[in-house]
Amino acid sequence: MLDLHVHLLGHLDRKVTKAAVREFLNAAVEKGISYIGFADHDLYWEHFNFSLVRQVGEEYPELQVRIGLEVDYREDREEEIAAMLQACPFDYVIGSVHQIGDWLFDYPEEEKNHHKRDADKLYKEYFAIVEKAAKSGLFDIIGHFDLIKLFGVRPQTDVRLLAAPALEAIKEAGLVVEVNTNGRYKPVQEFYPEYKLLELIKELGIPVTLGSDAHHPGAVGRDISEACLTLQSLGVKEINFFSGRKSIQLPLAF
Ligand code: ZN
Ligand code: FE
Ligand code: FE
Ligand code: ZN
Repeated sequence: MLDLHVHLLGHLDRKVTKAAVREFLNAAVEKGISYIGFADHDLYWEHFNFSLVRQVGEEYPELQVRIGLEVDYREDREEEIAAMLQACPFDYVIGSVHQIGDWLFDYPEEEKNHHKRDADKLYKEYFAIVEKAAKSGLFDIIGHFDLIKLFGVRPQTDVRLLAAPALEAIKEAGLVVEVNTNGRYKPVQEFYPEYKLLELIKELGIPVTLGSDAHHPGAVGRDISEACLTLQSLGVKEINFFSGRKSIQLPLAF
């Protein structure tokens, strides 16, 4: 099993120490995860310590440890992001949309603002930014593809229609979509992306990977086995791992 979306730093809840890395890796071993990737928020860039993570990773021959990054995508950040990615040899980069214009929409206190908006418009605006992220050429993986649903606001229009242009762009760009289990712990209480979008992703032949979006050791690998079963039920046969920004297909055997 595999988990490529782990936040070692959380939201600066801890420092990168050997003890902290071991706590996460021990949790992975306990959960039966053999492929793990840390992908902290790019916002905390100056707090990273890749050599320490790689060094502690060596203590775990049973684990494949990788270092990625979760980038906050905004159209006006493209140059800044490209420079950041140039500066560091990441194994993979997750592009995530957490912001519409200057509205950081995924904070808990924003829930009421979601309910005030026109849901179809909200989804269209969100997926248009995801589409730009996919076309930017900056990323390997698109994070929590339908994050905009997190407070349970649903569009009137079929979400598959609203998401189609973004999915087409993802397919064109050869990007991977993650099944992110963390949505289950948000008001919407389901994985990202939802099942009918996953069906469409499978139909389109878009490759997938898995992530818990853990911000603490206890959440590493959370619900990943269930996500594997969901993918298997859809007939997905392969899951993507990364090394030096190249994807590696692993059999989804479980
Ligand atoms: Zn976070
Ligand atoms: Fe995120
Ligand atoms: Fe995350
Ligand atoms: Zn995330």
